[in-house]
Amino acid sequence: MMKGFISLSISALVLSGSGIATTLVGSTVTTPLSSFELTKGAACACSKLSRAFSGIINPKSANYTAQAADAYWDVRADLSPACIFLPSMADEISKALQIFQTCDAQFAVRGGGHMNYPGSNNIDGGVLLALEKFNKVKVNAESIEVGPGLTWYNVYEALEPYGRAAIGGRLKTIGVPGLSLIGGFHYFNNKYGYAMDNVLSYDVVLGNGTRVVANKTSHPDLFWTLKGGANNYGIVTKFTLKTYAIPKVSATIQVFNESGIPGFLTAVCNIARLDEKDPIAAGMVATVQYNATTKVASASLLGVQEGVSQPPSQFANFSAIPAMTRINNVTTMRQWASSLDTPKQMFRVMFSHKTMKPDQDVLISIYKAWKDAVDQIADVEGLYPTFVTNVAPAGAARVGLTNGVGNVWGLEAQPYILWQFSTGWALAQDDLRIEAWSRQLIERLNAINIEKGIASDFIYMGDAGEWQDPFAGFSAKNVERMREIKASGQHTEDKRNGLIQHGTPANTHQVPNWVSVVQVAESKGWHPLPSFTSHPANAAIGTNEKCDEAKPKCQNCVRHGVECNFNTPPTTASTPTAGLHTGLSPFVSEATRLSSGAAAPSMGMAEMALLHHYSTSTCFTISRHPVLQTVWQTTVPSFGFSYQFVFRGILALAALHLAHLKPDLQDQYVDAAEYHHNLALQMVSATIPQINEENGPAVYLFSTITCIIGCALPRKRDDLWVSNDRILQWLSLFRGTVSIITSVHESLKSGPLAPMFTLGRRRSLAWEARSTASQTFLINLRRLIEEAVEDPIDLKCYTDAIDDLGKSFATIFEVGSQNCETADIFIWLLRITDQFLNQLQQRTPEALVIFGYYCVILKELEWAWWMQGFSIHMIRAIYYHLDEEHRCWLQWPMQQLGWVP
Ligand SMILES: Cc1cc2nc3c(=O)[nH]c(=O)nc-3n(C[C@H](O)[C@H](O)[C@H](O)COP(=O)(O)OP(=O)(O)OC[C@H]3O[C@@H](n4cnc5c(N)ncnc54)[C@H](O)[C@@H]3O)c2cc1C
Repeated sequence: MMKGFISLSISALVLSGSGIATTLVGSTVTTPLSSFELTKGAACACSKLSRAFSGIINPKSANYTAQAADAYWDVRADLSPACIFLPSMADEISKALQIFQTCDAQFAVRGGGHMNYPGSNNIDGGVLLALEKFNKVKVNAESIEVGPGLTWYNVYEALEPYGRAAIGGRLKTIGVPGLSLIGGFHYFNNKYGYAMDNVLSYDVVLGNGTRVVANKTSHPDLFWTLKGGANNYGIVTKFTLKTYAIPKVSATIQVFNESGIPGFLTAVCNIARLDEKDPIAAGMVATVQYNATTKVASASLLGVQEGVSQPPSQFANFSAIPAMTRINNVTTMRQWASSLDTPKQMFRVMFSHKTMKPDQDVLISIYKAWKDAVDQIADVEGLYPTFVTNVAPAGAARVGLTNGVGNVWGLEAQPYILWQFSTGWALAQDDLRIEAWSRQLIERLNAINIEKGIASDFIYMGDAGEWQDPFAGFSAKNVERMREIKASGQHTEDKRNGLIQHGTPANTHQVPNWVSVVQVAESKGWHPLPSFTSHPANAAIGTNEKCDEAKPKCQNCVRHGVECNFNTPPTTASTPTAGLHTGLSPFVSEATRLSSGAAAPSMGMAEMALLHHYSTSTCFTISRHPVLQTVWQTTVPSFGFSYQFVFRGILALAALHLAHLKPDLQDQYVDAAEYHHNLALQMVSATIPQINEENGPAVYLFSTITCIIGCALPRKRDDLWVSNDRILQWLSLFRGTVSIITSVHESLKSGPLAPMFTLGRRRSLAWEARSTASQTFLINLRRLIEEAVEDPIDLKCYTDAIDDLGKSFATIFEVGSQNCETADIFIWLLRITDQFLNQLQQRTPEALVIFGYYCVILKELEWAWWMQGFSIHMIRAIYYHLDEEHRCWLQWPMQQLGWVP
């Protein structure tokens, strides 16, 4: 039961008697987020770029949406850059990089815009470099020079008159740069290697603006590391690609019904194993589609082979299976690609994949398990699930091993199959569900392959989910070499910057200066969870761990290398003390011990279960922004190991999340949450009087967690905020976080939580720049209030709040619901004046109605479980507090929220 849970939270923070606590409530919040300097960089860079070049696109430009959103394949990749620069010459990129360096600005680079992970090729609040103007192509006798603004169709088109082809993308509009820099699966890999193996030379602008050419003889290390090293080493302004005399290709399109799928997957394994001495170049796109509504599955093969062969001989295993459709054709690479477009902005798409040695029985069982699992998400709107197999034949790896250059993958000459879920859906509200579904399923099925000894760690960046780590699958030797190459480039470590590292001004000479692999991995959300054993404060976890039920050796003990103790009483989740805390000291003594900060927290199985739930699920539900998700996943728990009130806060949040997911166990989990949170409050109360730059970020985190907990607590009908002040207390706490920010500004700005502040700051600047209330519904509200309120000071207080509401509505309209961040929604709460807050406390009808309008904005956050139902809960409470006249004023938000009394 709740037992005054949130009230205690607030009073513990508010009544601690410290300097900081007294500023938490009732003080004027004089230093809002705008005092931060974290994104001055982007503003500085945009203004310098505008002075240096024409055509800089900003959010008000007519073609902003075309660049910031429409140019991306996946809807999820649409972000809101502060400005967009479309350079057309390498020198312009050079100059831009120097500007970014001077301004300390963050930026992203886009080629063909196909990478579907948000943040990999676009940026919120930073500068976007879009390379579409690099569209020159020059055909040589045995090579082609290609600008990074081109697609593979452009390449095949340019080569067709010469009867030649290059090794690139299999579909029409995939970009040349992204695919070439990450590897490149083409139909003809088995004979000619991957796209990266066919790049003869790269023109590159390094992070410090220096231009170099990387090939076998010039910057050979850079040449090697660009073969799969992605965007870690510079911006490529020209690719010179090897071409082959392939005037004609033989293509086959075959579609099979469900009964043909086992044979289809067997044929995929057979073609993967094919390793002839004089291979014929041939490969395919092999996909299984499943319609969860009609329950119909089918498989399709798009096969291409070099030369003329009718039907194409390399697909004989497929041609032997009865097919619904079978079309064979002799064509050119260009003609074939022209029919395979991949339209932009169709879906939200989650890729996930793993790699295995070819084994048809296993592949078929994976397909079946996938199909069964799709039925669990059949209700997702716009669901488009496909099961894709990509073949990595031995011959493809052999090219890299024998061409005298190699590539960063370091694959052995062995056949592999990459089995992939490609899941499309329509609504942002399902993002987390799809990710969790895909991730859990793929990990579960891969675990079986690991046991069978047929799994490989290799992950292809182009088909990876954002939670997967491609670098971890490269050979360790190669990753080490990548790091060394980085180190030899007089690399300047700068954790704040995004995709490509800039150098120091002095660093403008011949030595290349490029970015850390790890840093980019972090920016893509690929940073592994911190290892338990590597954290001194956490060493206790292993030794204190309780045995689970498994005998003769429990899994936890085996994992942490400790003795099993089967005498430990089994845990039950019935009450907080008897269940979630079995084996811990009594409440008070434990609180005393923990508040001293002297020891690491003891963890029983129940705490481990909560921490596990937080790390695998809850941490992804606090923000939709990939960078912030990484902060919540990795940085926040590491604070927890040093500051136990953060640790307990995390457990409380995870418990509430479980209460939400498992209604049958709601009371137990809410009890557990209350227990952990109360414990944390005792500890934080002891810390607040000594708040300083060191512990400030932890206190800030805890107050943020407490705010989320305030929203997440199960809401009861009789628990109406206007009658019991709970929400007003929450609001005070929320605004109090700004005071914490103010007092420990420096450590927040540059410490581990810096990404949070950078993003918040960008959002805040964008909000500031928006125009005030011009929407009709707000004009009407303003008129009603002007007619009713005589006191000019009160009137100004209300109209200011309405003007700020106008900025928040404008943000939502401009950014779009699916792109709204938590900061966009809560900023109004930080900006309203203390006088307005006071009016709310007085419950004046005008203030309540204005707050009712704000509920429509709050609704935008209801993709998050912890906000679900919050806006209705509030509007209902406001409605019943108002008289009949003012209830009429509330009609617009009620209609928007779809709530009726
Ligand atoms: C529908 C579809 C089909 C696909 N088919 C294939 C396929 O057949 N074979 C295959 O191998 N992969 C395939 N992929 C994966 C694809 O290769 C990657 O998404 C690839 O990144 C796309 O390249 P792009 O230029 O369009 O990427 P972008 O999204 O523009 O860029 C990808 C990454 O490269 C960086 N980058 C772009 N240009 C440069 C540059 N000039 N210098 C430095 N960094 C740069 C970006 O910053 C970004 O991180 C497919 C993807 C999709 C969505």
